[in-house]
Amino acid sequence: MGGIREYFGNISDALTSTVKGMAVTWQHFSKEPPITVQYPRARLAVAPSYRGLHILEQAKCIDCKLCAKACPVDCIEIESVHHGRILEWQKFTIDYKKCIFCEFCIPPCPKDCIHMTSEYEMASADNGHMVEDLLTWTGLRANDKREVEAAEAKKAGKAPPPPPEGVTPQPGGPAGGNASPFGTVVTSLVKDIIMPPIGLALGGVDFSNLFISLKGETFKSLADAQAAGAPTLNYGLFINNIINFLIVALAVFLLVRAIARLMPPPPPPASTTRDCPYCLSSIPKAATRCAHCTSQVDPVKG
Ligand code: SF4
Ligand code: SF4
Repeated sequence: MGGIREYFGNISDALTSTVKGMAVTWQHFSKEPPITVQYPRARLAVAPSYRGLHILEQAKCIDCKLCAKACPVDCIEIESVHHGRILEWQKFTIDYKKCIFCEFCIPPCPKDCIHMTSEYEMASADNGHMVEDLLTWTGLRANDKREVEAAEAKKAGKAPPPPPEGVTPQPGGPAGGNASPFGTVVTSLVKDIIMPPIGLALGGVDFSNLFISLKGETFKSLADAQAAGAPTLNYGLFINNIINFLIVALAVFLLVRAIARLMPPPPPPASTTRDCPYCLSSIPKAATRCAHCTSQVDPVKG
């Protein structure tokens, strides 16, 4: 009898524990979110303070090397040649095999041009890929190159290099500079006075940096894209130029209207008619007979 009770008791325990286990499983499926993130198909959002890979705003960097000096593990290497104020970039690398993502390199930068992003994907089977060059371009930019060549030619007592095709040098001005003083003022008015508040009102948009890279590459600024020789649609500059044009058109309109108001009114045209002394109708001054009442009249000279 005791054996039968034990037999059915075991069956009851098995069923009870199975039901309890299934209840826990069901709770997990119905209430809790999945614990395993199916990376790389899904990614967890990183914290706002996350310190990931670096980016460099190369156009702002002055090669002071303060970031490299602040790095506790010496993983930043910067090489460039200084041509006066112009920089010829060679490398700006970070060795991520050594980097401890401490962020010590960011605060010393006087130009606020090196930043840490939330980007963390850098796994690679190749050790060489762990050394990242932050430069967008190397060497000299096209405009800087001409300036450096002109300075070197001047130092060597040679003629300066010719300006690029399609650019006419201005007497007394820099090669390619064709802006009149009025144009310079209008451009500065648009760029420095009008567009900043408009950009701020539109959520901090910098119109001069609105562009589309036709090859789909990503650049931080238009200067970087142009320095890298990437084809771009510069619709931000186009908007600036339209506003320039409207301001110039308005200025010309106001100027012409002001001049027209200062001019004396033209004299009224000399009359060629007179009134018939009989019927008072208007007849030519030289008429000898009125065309209306047929009376004979004396002609008037002048
Ligand atoms: S985050 Fe730290 S370790 Fe990495 S480059 Fe900057 S200073 Fe060096
Ligand atoms: S501290 Fe800033 S400006 Fe100086 S080299 Fe580093 S990134 Fe460039």
